Amino acid sequence: MKYIKSTLFAALLAATSLGASAQDMLVEGVLASETMERADSMALHTMLLNESYVVPSMDMYPKWENSGVHYTTNLPDSFRIDLTGFVMPTTSRKITDIFGYRPRRRRVHNGLDIKVERGDTIYAAFDGKVRITAYQRRGYGHYVVIRHNNGIETLYAHLSKKLVIENQNVKAGEPIGLGGNTGRSTGSHLHFETILLGKCIDPALLFDFKNQNVTGDSYVYRRPGSKYIENGKVKVAGPEPKYHKVKSGDTIGRIAKKHGVSQRSILKLNGLTASSIIRPGQRLRVQ
Ligand SMILES: [Zn+2]
Repeated sequence: MKYIKSTLFAALLAATSLGASAQDMLVEGVLASETMERADSMALHTMLLNESYVVPSMDMYPKWENSGVHYTTNLPDSFRIDLTGFVMPTTSRKITDIFGYRPRRRRVHNGLDIKVERGDTIYAAFDGKVRITAYQRRGYGHYVVIRHNNGIETLYAHLSKKLVIENQNVKAGEPIGLGGNTGRSTGSHLHFETILLGKCIDPALLFDFKNQNVTGDSYVYRRPGSKYIENGKVKVAGPEPKYHKVKSGDTIGRIAKKHGVSQRSILKLNGLTASSIIRPGQRLRVQ
């Protein structure tokens, strides 16, 4: 291949009467593209290594503070969240509100709402250390934030009572509070957040409350737009999944318009056909 290339090149040079500097440029051009090919395979190799590398999670965080739930950090291109060793935060299977943008209230819902009764025990989802216990009259009410050994933080809000203190080590399944209706809340429920380096990610990507299980042994977070390898091919991570809870009167068309996507893509994402019936309360992926 190299031989053909250079022969072709020689022919090209012979056919055109290029000056010395132009020849140099062409030769440099070839060298540059070969270097780039090598660099690409190096980058792929590094990406593969990173994928399998388990980050010592507590060290990912620059500091330990007993305040500031959400903050912005540089998220890695990808991060594998180990979900083994989980315990469901509540035995309730009833989701009352999903994660994401709420058009009606024009604000983002950073977590998942799960129906619990006042006094129901709330458990730590993984092993970790309690970072924040606080009270927000107009917000979370009584709430607890735990930093876990697997690299994420979880938040439990609207509690009637907190059972842990800041800087306390907890085990997965250890009671950390009691369900309630404190703060900005209508009706007792648990507001549950899963946070990676300050950024909220949809808890439903990790926890399946309906089936009282996790979604797998691990979940790989990919920063939208970042590259990764799947089946030997380089892929670009798409936007984070977005869901819509069907309300009465909703049609696929109306939902598509609301989220600025096509009806076809909604049907495809949810394995539906144009004649499928959607029901209020149903959760549809829209992105
Ligand atoms: Zn909530």
